[in-house]
Amino acid sequence: MLAVAERLRGIGDVPDVVIWHAPGDGAECDGDCDFHAIACSDSEGIVLPAPKRDVPVDLGVPGERWCDDCLAIISREPVIRR
Ligand SMILES: [Zn+2]
Ligand SMILES: [Zn+2]
Repeated sequence: MLAVAERLRGIGDVPDVVIWHAPGDGAECDGDCDFHAIACSDSEGIVLPAPKRDVPVDLGVPGERWCDDCLAIISREPVIRR
């Protein structure tokens, strides 16, 4: 599942957390974009994102997790290729 990373900065001793969002509609990722739309929001997105990455839905990586809203969207809709 292609995903967009959102990095939440940890405070103090809390490490950064990476939230994976399903990509929203919009421009193709060319690996050098300054914005990524995300599926859980029509207006918000990731500014200065890392390139999209293929991430398993059953992600088992410490410090990384899926956005709950995006996960719900993914499981509700089959992946549509345009
Ligand atoms: Zn999301
Ligand atoms: Zn991109």
